[in-house]
Formats: sequence, C-alpha cells, structure tokens
Amino acid sequence: KRNVLIIGAGGVAQVVAHKCAQHNDVLGNIHIASRTVEKCQEIVDSVREKGSLKTAGELQAHALDALDIEATKALIAKTQSQLVINVGSPFINMSVLQACIETGAAYLDTAIHEDPDKICETPPWYANYEWKRRELCAENKVTAILGVGFDPGVVNAYAAIGVNEYFDSVSDIDIIDINAGSHGHYFATNFDPEINFREFTGRVWSWQNSQWVQNKMFEVKRTDDLPVVGQHSSYMTGHDELHSLSKNLDVPNIRFWMGFGDHYINVFTVLNSLGLLSEQPITTAEGLEVVPLKMVKAVLPDPASLAPKYTGKTCIGDIVKGKKDGKDKEIFIYNVADHAEAYEEVGSQGISYTAGVPPVAAAILIAQGVWDVQKMVNVEELDCKPFINLLNEIGLPTRIKDADGDRLLSF
Ligand code: NDP
Repeated sequence: KRNVLIIGAGGVAQVVAHKCAQHNDVLGNIHIASRTVEKCQEIVDSVREKGSLKTAGELQAHALDALDIEATKALIAKTQSQLVINVGSPFINMSVLQACIETGAAYLDTAIHEDPDKICETPPWYANYEWKRRELCAENKVTAILGVGFDPGVVNAYAAIGVNEYFDSVSDIDIIDINAGSHGHYFATNFDPEINFREFTGRVWSWQNSQWVQNKMFEVKRTDDLPVVGQHSSYMTGHDELHSLSKNLDVPNIRFWMGFGDHYINVFTVLNSLGLLSEQPITTAEGLEVVPLKMVKAVLPDPASLAPKYTGKTCIGDIVKGKKDGKDKEIFIYNVADHAEAYEEVGSQGISYTAGVPPVAAAILIAQGVWDVQKMVNVEELDCKPFINLLNEIGLPTRIKDADGDRLLSF
C-alpha cells in the first residue's frame, strides 16, 4: 500500500507529515487535509523548508471537512491514497473510518472517537464506537489500526511485549506518562484545551481485579523515581488504552498515571471549581452568551506555539509486574524523548513528537505488508516486535529496565 492522506493539521499532524516525508520512498505521495487549508499549507511549507522529503514526490495541502464522508472518500480517491493517518480531532474518527471502509484504504488513528455532546461514556469506550465496525472492516478486508500514537499506541505494544516475552503471568500493568519539560508560560495545555480538560473533568476509570473501578481525578497518587527525569508524582487518570488492554490481555490490574505538578493542579482546580471548564453556555448580565471552556481556550496559549521554547524531556512507559519461574518480577519498558530535539528535527514539541512518530511507523509496516492485517485491531493484537525495532530506528528508542540493568530493547 502507498500514498498517505494525513487528516488534521495540528501539532501531531506536523510530526506525521515530516516523518512521512523522511520515508516517502516507502510511503509514496503525501497529502494533508483539514478544514483550514492554510494550516495544511504551513505544514507543507515547513516540510519543504526542512528538506524532509527523502525522494521527489507529491506533497500537497487540501481543504476537507472530514465529517463529510463523501468528501473524504472523494479526496482518498483523487489522491489515490491507500493509507489514511487520522490525526484530526477525535470527533471525526467514525466518519474517517467509514470513508476508509468504503474506499478500502487502511485507517490509522491515535485516539478513541468522542462524541462532542457526551462526556465520560461507559467502558470499554472502543465498544461504543470503533468496535461496532470490526466486522465491516473484516468483510471489506480493511486494515484499521486503532490508537497507534504513543499512549495509546506504543504503551500497548510495551504491555503486550511485557506479557508475551518476560513473564509466566502478569498481575499489574501501570502505564506512567511524565512530561518533565517546561514551556515557560504561567499555564498552558499541551494539546487542545477542550480535549485535554475532558480527560480530567469526568470520572477516572481503571481496571482493577478484572473490573472497572471509578475514582475522581487527582484522588489517587503515586511517586516514582524514573530513568533520566528522576522523581515525579503522577495521578490515576482514565485513558484510552485501558479500554482495549483490559479486553485483549489477561491482566487483572491495568492503570494509567499522568504526571502533574502542584501548580498545574492548583490552576486546574480553580478553573474547574469556578465552572470555567464547563461546556454549557452561560449568559452574562449584558446578554452575551459564552461557553466558559471556549473562553478559557481562547485566553490560553495556542498549544502549537509552545514548541519553540519547550525544554526538558518526557518519560513514558509501562511498569509490568508478575511471576517468572515462580518468582516475583518487575520490569519497566519506556521511552525518553527530548522537546528541543523534537523541535529541531520536525518543528514540534516532544509530546506531539511521541504521538506522531508511531502512526508513521505503523503506516510503514502496513506499506511493507508486515502489518497489513486486513481487519480492525488495537496495537496489542499485532506482532509488536517489528514496531519496536522500527521505532528504535526512526526516533523513539525503547529501553527496558529490570534486574539485569537498563538497556535498549530490540528484537
Ligand atoms: P489539534 O487540536 O492541534 O489538531 C486537530 C486537527 O484536527 C486540527 O488541525 C483541525 O484542523 C483538525 N480537524 C478538526 N475537525 C476537523 C474536521 N471536521 N475535518 C478535518 N479536520 C478537522 O490536535 P493534536 O495535533 O494535538 O492531536 C491530534 C490527535 O492526536 C487528537 O486526536 C489527539 O487526541 C491525538 N493525540 C494522541 C496522542 C497519543 O499519544 N496517542 C497524544 C496526543 C494527541 P481544522 O480546524 O483546520 O479542521
């Protein structure tokens, strides 16, 4: 399969475009589409300025409302794209997936579908939307790889590799996401605030004793001493990958932990307590109708603008605990990424980098036939070894820390 249509033109799309360009000998022509063609054109210009294209090939921007399935199908056909990397907002997943099913293009995304009107649906979230199209994908021989960013994505691969390669039985997988970087602003979100805050305003779901358990955000905390970034606290957070890992791996405890500093929590708590994160419109005394969350978004820095000054590193990985040869065992499989290095290479901060490189690795594996499975899968259902090996080569090396030390993981 060849020729890539990238949908979305945010921070992650920027990384996806640069990385696709670096591998266009395998991936073929590259097209970028979102509602605002200027944003897509800026990405095209930045790829050309950096000289990221490996060989001569098409690189074009397009205007597309991906909620319009017919328009999306038409663009897939016009650009002869056999690979669609959806890194637009999670509200468009189902329409893009439908366009892929109807055209036969392979589908990749990095987040679970969300309905803008529903907050915190019942788990497992994939069953509410994506998995309903599983049979249709199989019937049409459409390869759909769900959630193939970093988390979800690479951490699912780490979980599968932990379970399959290092243990006789696994009792616990704790996925830890620490951004030890600094953007220099009083307060900012690394991604679209509307999406970002939704993760923290609803209930926190985790998988414990093979059941879904509910907590409140910032209720359960842990502190770890991690490689490179050092000691950090993180909080149990509901997150996409739990919703497939709980189904696909026979592990009774799977939790996700996101690192937050005290300052972030204070500001978030004030905004939330005042009702400023609400999506419900209010009317001011002057008769103005305002959606508080939209107003907060408007006054916060644009997440994309943080990249040039971002310094420091991220550390994201899976602590896996279980038994091997009758003995207790614990390993940590992880990646460390550097914000400034990411900016230097592709013009984005490290979090967009960690999210954007994996779908390109997956697209390369589909193009090579290794992952062209012609059905819908989550990452942990695939053979994850070639994925880890390829990520080692293209910018996201995986390390493993266990009783034998700390080393590069490759197969
Ligand atoms: P942004 O909010 O910066 O970008 C989203 C893009 O979607 C915008 O460029 C927007 O462009 C486009 N878009 C929105 N609606 C439509 C539409 N109807 N049709 C076409 N394009 C549309 O997001 P990010 O780049 O930060 O993140 C992209 C995705 O990656 C998100 O789904 C996010 O949840 C996910 N993500 C995954 C991570 C992981 O590790 N798995 C980590 C970080 C993010 P326009 O307005 O021009 O249409």
